[in-house]
Amino acid sequence: MILIDCKKISENKIESIKNEIAEIESKTGLKPCLATILVGENPASAAYINAKIKKCAQAGIQSLHYKLAEDAKKEEIVSLIETLNASNEIDAVLLQLPLPKKEFEEDCINAINPLKDADGLCPYNAGLLSLAKNYKNLLDKNIPIPCTPLGIIHILKESGAEISGKNAVIIGRSNLVGKPLALLLLLNDASVICVHSKTKNLKEICKSADILIAAIGRPNFINKDYIKDGSIVIDVGINRIDGKITGDIDFEDMKNLDIKLTPVPGGVGVMTTTMLLENTLRLFKQNRLNKKSAGG
Ligand code: NAP
Repeated sequence: MILIDCKKISENKIESIKNEIAEIESKTGLKPCLATILVGENPASAAYINAKIKKCAQAGIQSLHYKLAEDAKKEEIVSLIETLNASNEIDAVLLQLPLPKKEFEEDCINAINPLKDADGLCPYNAGLLSLAKNYKNLLDKNIPIPCTPLGIIHILKESGAEISGKNAVIIGRSNLVGKPLALLLLLNDASVICVHSKTKNLKEICKSADILIAAIGRPNFINKDYIKDGSIVIDVGINRIDGKITGDIDFEDMKNLDIKLTPVPGGVGVMTTTMLLENTLRLFKQNRLNKKSAGG
């Protein structure tokens, strides 16, 4: 087993974003700004927000943080989002999920202006992703793309994996990971199968994968019986057991296999926060920079 160095891939990406921002700032005096919203006191969510704010500073992105109480009403969250939507200084708005009240999530995500949608999760941007003609065309449009799937594509490309023509199997079909990842892999010419809790013959399908991505949320669910020799295995899972973070892949069972694997922690999660910077930069270019160069 070879571990993919996602931290290194992430550092290189941050460096290139930082250089691009420095160059833009030296020419225009402008730099991107991300607004983050945390509702409630969930320690994992607070830790994610802190990591995101820290990375923004590293890349030269300004960040503004807003905190709402655990019992905040939906109207209060939406009203804050609308204020941030209206600000000329803010390029991107990130609402940290999950919200304390899960039933608020859809309406709150939909309240984010699609042109400021840092996570690329609102229906308009999901539609643009599903209608994209090819990957280059998608990137050229500077639209935001869901951070975890985008980070996974970046990991695959930077670790030298061939995607075109390969069999990719994704375990999980969420709007956050599985579905957008299936589209991104298709745009990169993989043959994609998306499996889920109702799938029959899960093991056999997974074993056919040149690229296997586990986004299930069940600790150590995937053992060596699911794995094809020579494959690339991406572990998206973040599961907490006795205060320790573990993935969906049974790490110990992988040790003697001929595979490349992303670690947990320090794998996909690291790239997810880095891709938030990429999305913020895209929205900044699309909104403020293009307007300025067009004389707006
Ligand atoms: P989710 O919405 O709960 O989706 C889980 C998916 O796994 C569902 O599609 C579900 O199938 C499928 N599944 C559950 N049990 C299964 C089984 N026994 N066999 C086959 N499929 C099964 O979760 P998510 O938001 O996509 O996140 C998945 C995991 O990734 C979680 O651990 C989460 O914490 C982690 N995550 C990590 C990052 C990161 O940055 N590293 C980002 C996002 C999420 P059904 O649709 O049939 O229910």
